[in-house]
Amino acid sequence: MSVGIGMNLNSWMAELLSNYRSRTPKSATLYDRACRKLPGGTTYAIRFLSPYPPFISRARGPYVWDVDGNMYIDFWVGHGALILGHAPDEVLEKVEEQLWLGTHYGYDHELALELAELVTKVVPNVEMIRFTNSGTEANMYALRLARAYTKRNYIVKIEGGWHGGYDGLHKAVTKPYDEPESAGLPDEYLKYTLVVPFNDVEALEKLFKSYEIAAVIVEPIMGAAGIIPPEPNYLKELRKLCDAHGSLLIFDEVITGFRVALGGAQEYFGVKADIVTMGKILGGGFPIGAIASRSEIMELMDHIKHPRKSERAFHGGTFTANPISMVAGKATIEYLSKNRWVYDRMNSLGLMICRRVDELRSTLGIDVYATYGGSMVGLHFTKKRPVNAREAAELWVPEDALKIMNLYFRLNNILYISEKKPHFFLSTKHQYRHVEKLVSTLENFLIRLKSMVSKN
Ligand code: PMP
Repeated sequence: MSVGIGMNLNSWMAELLSNYRSRTPKSATLYDRACRKLPGGTTYAIRFLSPYPPFISRARGPYVWDVDGNMYIDFWVGHGALILGHAPDEVLEKVEEQLWLGTHYGYDHELALELAELVTKVVPNVEMIRFTNSGTEANMYALRLARAYTKRNYIVKIEGGWHGGYDGLHKAVTKPYDEPESAGLPDEYLKYTLVVPFNDVEALEKLFKSYEIAAVIVEPIMGAAGIIPPEPNYLKELRKLCDAHGSLLIFDEVITGFRVALGGAQEYFGVKADIVTMGKILGGGFPIGAIASRSEIMELMDHIKHPRKSERAFHGGTFTANPISMVAGKATIEYLSKNRWVYDRMNSLGLMICRRVDELRSTLGIDVYATYGGSMVGLHFTKKRPVNAREAAELWVPEDALKIMNLYFRLNNILYISEKKPHFFLSTKHQYRHVEKLVSTLENFLIRLKSMVSKN
């Protein structure tokens, strides 16, 4: 049974805000200071939680603490990067040792080679790799590499797909999809970027008929759009289309890499990508990104094989492959390789959240859907389970209801992002009891929400 909205959320919001303010006076003061020096009072708009975010001063395992001493179960774990939870011993020990040996050599070193060997061993279909400092950079260089290899210009991305803030991919990320995603983005920068909906093979087939496409870039499970998994065979169809038209398939595995399985989405779904971009987990809690592919493609970055700059695909950067990110990444991937069982455990906790949300929908008669991405779950106040970004954005509740939900969770000592689209990331440190607390908090929230809506 679906319910319509005939509610006044203002008094609920006012009650929660007053509780929040009384629990977080130090964060309030820091936020006032931040507003004078950081645009929007924040370091990144996605981190903003209204009326002001809790300022975090400590983190360990599945928990973070704010400056007022409140402890939260963290379901954001560093934008999904911290698969071993916050400050894991396995990583800290190695990083501590490395700190005294040098934080940034600016020369080549064995640690980068070791991480390269490890990643190309555990991730399928990649033989060579180059490191960057972020996922955004990795995708930027991946596009260049794909264009250099195919000698074509057009790139296809997915509507609602998020690949970082690089110009050429900063298109059709959020609703309305035809409005520029940012000021300062000339149309000319985006004229080679084509867009299709997720889980829509026909739309892509049509584009292939009209354009010479260098590459299709896709998040195998859409992340920022709301953790939306591919329908069965969708990725295989993308693979076939790319093969049929001589285009490269780029999997943006910045989120899914080392998360859905050790070998990422290629392993999880059994589909081969031509180029894989990575980030987040690969850095073991430190900044990173990476572009990986088969040697034939990666060698386009080889300055010896391709001495002419116009025939080479450039990649570089000051902090690229810095020893701290390398050592932390290596410790993380080694831990995951030796403890592959953690994937079953994390993925089944994710499934448990989804099943419990299904139960809540039927017992409470309220339209709420969870989308499953292994150890990550999206929550949607939509009339049906969304299969693409457009559907995920069709909310039946006012945006304020989602703001209230985030505040309600914070007051129940749970943190997640974002206020507009709830995403829950798990780590190896999350246990059954943390997930239970998440589900029971959601249940209580939904019961109160339901009491405020009138039946259609
Ligand atoms: N790709 C995907 C799928 C992402 O989710 C993100 C970041 N959330 C990026 C790329 C960009 O990575 P970064 O923030 O490290 O630049």
